[in-house]
Amino acid sequence: MKKKMISAVMAVAVAAGLMACGSSSADSAVSTSATSAASVQAQSSSDAETSSADTSAAASASGTITGDGVGTAGTLVMATNAEFPPYEYHDGSNDEIVGIDAEIAQAIADKMGCKLQIEDIAFDSIIPEVTSGKADMGMAGMTVTDERKKSVDFSDTYAEASQVIIVKNDSAITSPDGLKDKIIGVQTGTTGDIYATDDFGDDHVERYNKGMEAVQALSQGKIDAVIIDREPAKVFVADNTGLKILDQAYTTEQYAIAVEKGNTALLNNINAALAELKADGTLDKIVSKYITAE
Ligand code: GLN
Repeated sequence: MKKKMISAVMAVAVAAGLMACGSSSADSAVSTSATSAASVQAQSSSDAETSSADTSAAASASGTITGDGVGTAGTLVMATNAEFPPYEYHDGSNDEIVGIDAEIAQAIADKMGCKLQIEDIAFDSIIPEVTSGKADMGMAGMTVTDERKKSVDFSDTYAEASQVIIVKNDSAITSPDGLKDKIIGVQTGTTGDIYATDDFGDDHVERYNKGMEAVQALSQGKIDAVIIDREPAKVFVADNTGLKILDQAYTTEQYAIAVEKGNTALLNNINAALAELKADGTLDKIVSKYITAE
């Protein structure tokens, strides 16, 4: 009987350890009570599972996904730029940051037993924030590039994306070739910025802090085109009359989550969580909530 109770306490303590994100003070509070009464602890353990927003969080008890690798115990800090609908943006009604990335990040945090904290910063500050360890991950519709791979490690990819060209309805530009000698608006530090600068030269690129500002400049006739990711382009074009997206994409690319180089514990946890979210259909469900099939 006594032996049985000890193993029950241990099982609960192990489960609590898996549920905890890093070795937080909350974690030690949980294990303290585990030593006092197995039945109480067992109860609080099941509470912990049911109180996780996502019922699939129970999957973390499988033992494959833990909170290991986060910098601040108990919290998964995500750096993003919430100017990028439908991936991350401020919900008008209560200014909360919502979107595909925000929801996937929450689902990953749930599986890791972590609280999610979202930092809204400039897009070109996201990688520095990750390399300095201020944020655990950068998630911002971020395209995997060889250049970025020199500073950060990327998770498995979770979305196919492309850069598209937005022009005015009556524009003479009909394909990427038509951009030569034109002024192209981009969001600073994005792949649209990097590739347009490479292809057309610095003098032909106008940089904006927010993609929406580039699109507004196009509407006002200040620039000739905008190169930006397809899904935000669709949102911005819908919000501004007289604009269209060219049929031919400028590039195709893939989104992934950036973590500090060498943080394999965190990378493995994120990849394991992503794999579960892909396999059980959660990822598709989140995407279809924000993007309607064409
Ligand atoms: N996908 C683009 C990039 O990674 C743009 C991302 C963004 O603006 N949030 O550069």
